[in-house]
Amino acid sequence: MDLLIRNIGQIVSGNINAPLVEGDAVLVKDGRITAVSHENSLNVSNVERIIDANGCTLFPGLIDSHVHVVVGDFTPRQQTLGFIESCLHGGVTSMISAGEVHIDGRPKNPVGLKALAIIAAQSFANARPAGVKVQGGGLILDPAFTEQDFKEVAEAGVKHLGEIGLGTVTDWALAGKMVGWAHKYGLKVMMHVGGASIPGSNVIGADAVLTAKPDVASHLNGGPTAAPLAEVKRIITESNIALELVQCGNMLALQNVARLIHRHDALDRLIIGTDMPSGTGVVPLGMLRTITAVTTFSDIRPEQAVAMATGNTASVYELRRGLIAEGYEADFLLVDAPVGSVAKDALEALAVGDIPGIAAVFIDGALKIGVSRNTPPPKRKATL
Ligand SMILES: [Zn+2]
Repeated sequence: MDLLIRNIGQIVSGNINAPLVEGDAVLVKDGRITAVSHENSLNVSNVERIIDANGCTLFPGLIDSHVHVVVGDFTPRQQTLGFIESCLHGGVTSMISAGEVHIDGRPKNPVGLKALAIIAAQSFANARPAGVKVQGGGLILDPAFTEQDFKEVAEAGVKHLGEIGLGTVTDWALAGKMVGWAHKYGLKVMMHVGGASIPGSNVIGADAVLTAKPDVASHLNGGPTAAPLAEVKRIITESNIALELVQCGNMLALQNVARLIHRHDALDRLIIGTDMPSGTGVVPLGMLRTITAVTTFSDIRPEQAVAMATGNTASVYELRRGLIAEGYEADFLLVDAPVGSVAKDALEALAVGDIPGIAAVFIDGALKIGVSRNTPPPKRKATL
């Protein structure tokens, strides 16, 4: 065995249906979790590295479902270098590109848009900024795309479409036809909801989403301007589409939408992202802040909110991560209540609205950072 984490206070699974798991230890081999249990029931005789969690809580690594990356660890939108590394210090171990729309002089024709998606997909697949797994290459739609275009980009490594609504396709029936082609070649699809940046259209609401049938209805609390709650309610009740809430949105709408999703018993469809970099800026603690907002503004429990930022998103994008479970990629965090908090552990901290302190972040079983430079310091520290 490569790694044993022992003395874990609590294990948050990332599984929305069973968000807490029994045990105080996790074993890792070849970058995968091989056991989650009590240490006294494990064979730990041949472990190369032992880490004592000293009572810290184990979370799966956070998966940001909505990031406007370009290529590498730079965002032209806020002219910031190293923003992905900063997010690693906020517990983010994976990101899904919502479309590389911030590149200067963005292509606005089919061949250029395909090239942009392919470059981003391949570049992030070949080089992980700070170790973070970025699924780049969110293809932006053009009305002239044919089925062949979706086949080509899929064969070149593109795995999903960026937000429908960012490109020049505003005929939602045509968008729906393209979603069909995308699905045929295994591509997942997200769609912008709410106030639109497209001239001539004020809002992308339920009719557009229910016609296009994407996999994810993006930023239901606005990116940044929220759609009317009645529109969101139709998306919840008239489809099985994944429902996203983001940091760079409308916080009152986040509260209303989170409660609505809970009332409609659709917590397994709720996913959490940031929608940064944006005009709001780069928000390295954006995932933790949004998890905190979702749990404090609703009756959603902290461990359920963590699942919305991990296992739920992995399930939409068919990633073998986001869960603390055997066979999954060993991406996880050791966290605790921050120094000075009234809370006694990480879940209690989330429940009282405090950002937990990060004591360590692992990707594929490898220690990436110890105590975060961005969160408040954790009360307990792992012995690394
Ligand atoms: Zn958007």
